[in-house]
Amino acid sequence: MDTKYLFKRHNTWWVKVAVPRTLKSKLGYDLRESLSTHDINQAHLLREEVVSRLKSKIKVAKNNNLSNDKLSADVQEYLPATDLSDPQYYHKIVDCQYACPAHTPVPEYIRQIALGNYTDAYMINWESNVFPGILGRTCDRPCEPACRRTRTHEKPVAICRLKRVAADNRDDISNLLPKAGENNGKRIALIGGGPASLTVARDLRILGYECVLFEKDPQAGGLMRTNIPSFRLPEKVLNEEVEQILDMGVSVRFNTEISSMKALLNEDFDAIFVGTGAPKGRDLSIEGRIEADANVHIGIDWLTSIAFEHTKSIGKKVIVLGGGNTAMDCCRSSLRLGAENVTVTVRSPFEQMKASEWEKEDAMGEGIPILDNHVPKKFLVENCKLIGMEFEKVKAVFDSNGKRSLIPTGEDPVIIECDDVLIAIGQDNAFNWIERDIGIEFGEWDMPNVDKTTFQSSHEKIFFGGDAAWGPENIIWAAAHGHQAAISIDKFCRGEDLQDRPEPGTSLISQKMGVHEWSYHNDISQAERFIVPHADPAIALKDLKVEVELGFDKQMGFEETQRCLNCDVQTAFSESLCIECDACVDICPTDCINFIANGTEEDVRKNLRVPAVNLDQDILVSKELPTARVMIKDEDVCLHCGLCAERCPTGAWDMQTYLYEEAKAYQ
Ligand SMILES: Cc1cc2nc3c(=O)[nH]c(=O)nc-3n(C[C@H](O)[C@H](O)[C@H](O)COP(=O)(O)OP(=O)(O)OC[C@H]3O[C@@H](n4cnc5c(N)ncnc54)[C@H](O)[C@@H]3O)c2cc1C
Ligand code: SF4
Ligand code: SF4
Repeated sequence: MDTKYLFKRHNTWWVKVAVPRTLKSKLGYDLRESLSTHDINQAHLLREEVVSRLKSKIKVAKNNNLSNDKLSADVQEYLPATDLSDPQYYHKIVDCQYACPAHTPVPEYIRQIALGNYTDAYMINWESNVFPGILGRTCDRPCEPACRRTRTHEKPVAICRLKRVAADNRDDISNLLPKAGENNGKRIALIGGGPASLTVARDLRILGYECVLFEKDPQAGGLMRTNIPSFRLPEKVLNEEVEQILDMGVSVRFNTEISSMKALLNEDFDAIFVGTGAPKGRDLSIEGRIEADANVHIGIDWLTSIAFEHTKSIGKKVIVLGGGNTAMDCCRSSLRLGAENVTVTVRSPFEQMKASEWEKEDAMGEGIPILDNHVPKKFLVENCKLIGMEFEKVKAVFDSNGKRSLIPTGEDPVIIECDDVLIAIGQDNAFNWIERDIGIEFGEWDMPNVDKTTFQSSHEKIFFGGDAAWGPENIIWAAAHGHQAAISIDKFCRGEDLQDRPEPGTSLISQKMGVHEWSYHNDISQAERFIVPHADPAIALKDLKVEVELGFDKQMGFEETQRCLNCDVQTAFSESLCIECDACVDICPTDCINFIANGTEEDVRKNLRVPAVNLDQDILVSKELPTARVMIKDEDVCLHCGLCAERCPTGAWDMQTYLYEEAKAYQ
């Protein structure tokens, strides 16, 4: 399906419209708006109106520029040279890193894996995403659909699996982990022991903050421990990375549920971080629910009881309701607990299910049918015992505003026999333990009002992050929130302005080693994405603890790294060295270099050798050259092969690695 202007964030579709460079200082790099839907078809229908609204906003800004300021009229006519001092310019070209919520320097760690430096690759990850072994198995991978390789060779680099190669093959890293800083006298309370709180603890312990972590369960890890099954995330990997953080001297209070924020505020903490997640699984109140209660389970609670080994069996016939990742974990766990006949049913059409592609594939690969367009109507109970469920068959119909309705097809109801039902239809937050008179404002959906930049609530001492801030997301978002909240808590404790955020660390280093030699591998592999091997199902399906994905071995990992296009190696251009011989233009395999007359962005994009149609990707504009032309390069299609720099007789082109590191509290 055509996804122009659309991108996915927090499992929700957004519209993004690129802003002409002349207005970037005024409007930012692009204008974005959430479509508040998970459904691609609906997003498709809704986007047109939003795109035209955002475009008219750009038009108004353009007209204001022209009428308010005469000088800016000139700017409209001629594109200014690209401002390379803006750290976001080159960052945006590294598509995978830009899309990763924690901005992990992906191509840099991929190069380290190619060199066999697994420990270095692991540590590069650990700085940004805190849990490389865990995420190398479970990450939601927003970087992969963004990967430039999808624009040149269809399938993205297997970025997530490569993270796992680094984690699986690293050496002992205990000496490389930073030690806790000297006690700075400040005490921070962290409520909940999930990835968000653990990230905050790691960042603040380095600065010498005393971190006290309250967790209602007997161990830390949050949903990573209680809900992600061991066949996807082995306990050993989880424990290792959680303990790496706790061992930095976090004071833990396990089996301690915070039941009053007011009481906690009365204790001597300088700031409080709420990382309590979205712990309430949704229920389904339809006919027969109460009578069938003994055999109906809320998915996330059921997975938790498996994790703590309270549940060890399930009936032979199981129905799982829901189309998200929880449903996929429930159905696959049921098989391993002895169910012989597991069926997933989902209200929406298959393509609109929320579960990731790979989760659906894995479930179906284990022989579990997914019945879409089935709306649950009744739990069927006989002699006080659940015997099955009744479903109505529907089809999705969209109105002119893109609103989806599920219309009954009129077919006979579908009856599915079952012994147990698992309900996996969503999660909610639960803040009944936060009193409403202590200065935390609550808004829509009874969620706290949290500042999107600083993660501070309306109570200056209290910060939120992870699923507790804006609802269920995933681990990498929880880590990204944790880093930002730690920066804010540190600034708050120092009495600094929280809105004044630290700049990222950046460097730009030439990769030249000789006339035709580069320190990176620039010969692009034409191989297709490698398929990760799986454990023998005869063994894996019998045991919850047998990991299904075996990961790439070193050789496969190496081959996969060669598919990366090194998007962080930038083509840097020096006007002062250019003699306008056009040698680079001739050699570029993608025709992305141009020497042309300057003009408006619209005209320039049209006049390139190959028109630059992808407005989300920038064009590099040089200062004016002696012939009064400018050099324009379309960043969208550059392969970073370096042929331009090899061919250039004066060295006007150079290949330079751009390293971008998001600021952390301790840097
Ligand atoms: C079945 C399932 C599978 C998932 N699979 C993936 C996946 O493969 N990849 C991925 O990226 N994400 C996955 N997720 C989502 C991911 O686990 C969460 O987004 C992430 O763990 C959120 O982190 P968090 O730190 O905000 O909260 P959580 O991980 O939810 O941790 C919150 C912690 O707070 C504790 N707590 C709550 N209230 C209190 C209280 N009052 N006092 C003390 N402690 C309290 C809870 O016990 C819990 O340990 C999955 C979620 C589910 C439900
Ligand atoms: S090709 Fe490599 S550097 Fe480029 S976006 Fe994909 S993973 Fe990132
Ligand atoms: S690096 Fe390669 S693809 Fe990019 S501009 Fe230079 S020659 Fe063209």
